[in-house]
Amino acid sequence: MDEMLLAREPVIRLAAFLGVLAAMAFWEILAPRRRREIPRLLRWSNNLALVALDAVALRIAFPIVAVGLAVIAEERGWGLFNAFGTPGWIAVPLSVVVLDFAIYLQHVLFHAVPALWRLHRMHHADLEFDVTTGVRFHPVEILLSMGLKLGLVAALGPPAVAVLIFEVLLNASSMFNHSNIDIPSRTDRWLRWIVVTPDMHRVHHSVLPEEANSNYGFNLPWWDRLLGTYRAQPKSGHLGMTLGIDRFRTRRDLWVDRMLLQPLRRR
Ligand SMILES: [Zn+2]
Ligand SMILES: [Zn+2]
Repeated sequence: MDEMLLAREPVIRLAAFLGVLAAMAFWEILAPRRRREIPRLLRWSNNLALVALDAVALRIAFPIVAVGLAVIAEERGWGLFNAFGTPGWIAVPLSVVVLDFAIYLQHVLFHAVPALWRLHRMHHADLEFDVTTGVRFHPVEILLSMGLKLGLVAALGPPAVAVLIFEVLLNASSMFNHSNIDIPSRTDRWLRWIVVTPDMHRVHHSVLPEEANSNYGFNLPWWDRLLGTYRAQPKSGHLGMTLGIDRFRTRRDLWVDRMLLQPLRRR
């Protein structure tokens, strides 16, 4: 069962990525939230080139993926859940929630530690906010994140299927909550009790530091509310707010070579 899951993992992930990307892109065309200022071709070609580079970097740096490690941990009885023989119906949902909380904490850390912020600020330097922003992460951030996930999988011993669900869910929800889509505010209000919505995460992409340092959640919206980092709306409104960070604001900065070198640049 697990071997089959592992063999199909790349196909499942790629299909989910392409499916959600297409669905959100279509939704953005049908019902956009903010007016587009920068040609889609410029941002999309570069953001998607970065995703391809991230995937290659991950392949080269890690001989094993998180789902693969979960399979090994299950076979050898590593980690909390395996050691106690926790039944799947408890271990699967609990693992997804614990992994999501870990990603929330990691995100807070990437803002708080200056060296990590240099890597993560590239995600924030996107001058617009759409589905491709949701996958625009520096390869070194992706590698560090995978390292943390592997450590957590070894310690927790989650079922392999839970790790796969979590990774597909995180990727899908990141593309959803970065989308430039117009969800009626009444729907948004109840939806953001279950999942991080685009209006909720857009606040995090504000140029204002106090707004950027809120709404760290990617998947479940509860951590921000529980830990006091929740901010309902941006001060200048969703249409009036400025996105990005105060430097790297030229169109040239949106090219993939500049994105890769951004952590090393001062001005
Ligand atoms: Zn952030
Ligand atoms: Zn973001």
